[in-house]
Amino acid sequence: MTQPVPPGTGLTGFVTREAADASADPTEAERRQLDKAVELLAGRKLALLTGAGLSTDSGIPDYRGPDAPPRNPMTYQQFVGDPVLRQRYWARNHVGWHHLRHAVPNAGHEAVVHLEERGLLTGVITQNVDRLHSDAGSIRVIDLHGRFDRVLCLSCGAVYTREGIARLLERLNPGYLERVAADGDIAPDADAEITDTEGFTVADCPVCDGMLKPDFVYFGENVPKERVRLSYAAVDDAGALLVAGSSLTVMSGLRFVRHAAKEGKPVVIINRGQTRGDALADLKIDMGVGTALQYLARTLPDPAPQYGQHPGRHAD
Ligand SMILES: [Zn+2]
Repeated sequence: MTQPVPPGTGLTGFVTREAADASADPTEAERRQLDKAVELLAGRKLALLTGAGLSTDSGIPDYRGPDAPPRNPMTYQQFVGDPVLRQRYWARNHVGWHHLRHAVPNAGHEAVVHLEERGLLTGVITQNVDRLHSDAGSIRVIDLHGRFDRVLCLSCGAVYTREGIARLLERLNPGYLERVAADGDIAPDADAEITDTEGFTVADCPVCDGMLKPDFVYFGENVPKERVRLSYAAVDDAGALLVAGSSLTVMSGLRFVRHAAKEGKPVVIINRGQTRGDALADLKIDMGVGTALQYLARTLPDPAPQYGQHPGRHAD
């Protein structure tokens, strides 16, 4: 036992502390841009798509942001096909998880809760696995790329809490965390930059001895159909799409921008740095996501009843 920690929130095992202060006021130039966004989005319900840029204020690095080091994430095929790579992945994930679980929502997440409470959102589609939207209190959250607080058995389909598997890994690898100084950067998928992974014992499914995998959508793996369907439904129910803190590098997120644009719905992107959706956006604002969302949450007018009420669903 190292240090006492406050009790978790129950849902995720996250520790609750006060949110980081990411609520700086926008500059004059940023405010002019944000007012254009308000003009475009006013009276419409919004589908919100969020990415790593929203969680950087919570101390979770954005591995695709402008300052991020190049990374080479493991593919699903490598994970299931190569025991050495799998061992390395689990060792790093074990260390990374202990860091990530202490992250807390920031002012951007709080602003999203406020938008939802005001009736302005049809749903939050997030590419983040950190669960910070749910920790903050958002209700209609679609964890597009999975959840870092869960582990799946690929053989019997059992679902475990990451907390429980962490205890199992600690019993299998006594003293490992203490030996490995996790002083490198830690990616949002909890893949800590450590190299001493030889001798790490990977946990098997406690029920069937099958292969365990964190509940993330890996590169080379498809997003489960139900999550895709719910995400399209959130966009279809909305009068506009707001993207916050995603560079839209992967198609799993970009397709919703394409869908909204094709339907003639306004698309507003807030992100530091270029995104793959910029050409499809009616407005792109290059600024901090937390500040922007706070501004929108207090400035957008209430939604008009005629928008976002149609029962349409995406055909797919
Ligand atoms: Zn199993």
